[in-house]
Amino acid sequence: MKFCKAIPGILAIFLISFLMPGVNASAAGRLQSTDGNPVIVIDPGHGGENLGTQEGGIWDEKYMNMVTAQALYDELSLYDNVEVYLTRTDDRDVSFQERAAFAQSVNADFLFSIHYNASENHDLFGSEVWVPLSAPFNNYGYQIGCELLTDMQDRGLLVRGIKTRRGDRGEYYAIIRETVALDIPAAIIEHCHVDEDRDRGYCDSEEDLIQFGKNDATAIAKYFGLKSSVLNVDYSDYQLVDISDSAPIASTLRDETPPDVCRIEFSEADYDTGYLSFTVSAADYDSPLLYYTYSIDGGQTYSERKAWPGSDVLTGKYEDTFTLSLAVPSGTKPSVIVRAYNMFDPYTESNRYDSPEIFYYNETSESEEPEESGDNTPAGDENKSGDSDTGKDAANSASDASESVAVSGSAVAAEKQISFVTFLEICLVIVILLFIILLVSQGIAYHNRKKRRLQSRKDAGESRNQHR
Ligand SMILES: [Zn+2]
Repeated sequence: MKFCKAIPGILAIFLISFLMPGVNASAAGRLQSTDGNPVIVIDPGHGGENLGTQEGGIWDEKYMNMVTAQALYDELSLYDNVEVYLTRTDDRDVSFQERAAFAQSVNADFLFSIHYNASENHDLFGSEVWVPLSAPFNNYGYQIGCELLTDMQDRGLLVRGIKTRRGDRGEYYAIIRETVALDIPAAIIEHCHVDEDRDRGYCDSEEDLIQFGKNDATAIAKYFGLKSSVLNVDYSDYQLVDISDSAPIASTLRDETPPDVCRIEFSEADYDTGYLSFTVSAADYDSPLLYYTYSIDGGQTYSERKAWPGSDVLTGKYEDTFTLSLAVPSGTKPSVIVRAYNMFDPYTESNRYDSPEIFYYNETSESEEPEESGDNTPAGDENKSGDSDTGKDAANSASDASESVAVSGSAVAAEKQISFVTFLEICLVIVILLFIILLVSQGIAYHNRKKRRLQSRKDAGESRNQHR
């Protein structure tokens, strides 16, 4: 069952149904009308001197975009009665105006700009689709965005949303601005974040980049109701999320206000093993919660971002309450704060919990890594939520849980890497010190030899004088 169309109503799951179209939807058709022979323009972002992000470390983004765009082109071309074009087929920069003008020249029904993402602080992860601000293109973008992102969600990526962004000149993103100005619907597909551990595994091989392109093609084929005799599929009766095209979809519009509530309540502490548990409760009445972070040092430092348990921004669902268990390093007196982030990034900080005691325990016991544990969705809690929805929700919760386990794993790896770097630094300092000592001792030895030679010459002279 598709999330966009999933039936709501699970206790303990917060629901913003009035903002989330499609939640109550039955089968529905495409808002955008075409003559049944759609013309689709695929735009591989960046190119030439314009490299895109280089934070992935393997390839420049322009190359990744091209591999995905080419795979999308190849796959979509296997459908009947569809015309597919690329805005560039080689490694050169093309201006936004040229890309849009090309779409117009072929009479495009839609332009899809293909991208990979990176964030300034390398802390964001997940997939998102950017769509136009105004109806009806906003609504077209929402319908196709649901198809694209549901697929990425099924593959385990966190969905960051179908969103709009306003800039000084209307649309913030130039490719959307220029294309929409020519009366052609457009969307930007940001597949995942190349600079974040939890996303990197989805985009670190050519096969991954090709897979994104193939999946995008299937989503686009569903959107346009295409069929393929080669692939033996027929999406002509495929039903899209049911929305109206009279006004932009509320959930795509930027929520400037932070979440309304974020509260933590102490539940238990195990001073023998160093575990500390809280009940975290949070809500945002405008947009779903997407991430959380926590601090155990009173807000001086925060953990990496974690996916908010049960967060599904396509339906607006998230757990409004969950249990957060933290592994506290021995010798610390934790002061805990949790931050709740909504899908547009504003966050709200919880109250602070100050531990009355210092955690002292035997660290050589079974807890391998006392620094952190991401046990944020204990099995008991999942059951408590009485989640009676399709198997998909259960799978989602499970993937959240395992994701947080993976997160601790990566934190451990990062820590090990840091300690290895520190080890290397210490080695370097020792080598430099040894070198300096060697130089100094050489200098002293030379100085001493010179002094002895002078002394012996002087002695010889003196003895000669004495002999005289
Ligand atoms: Zn890009």
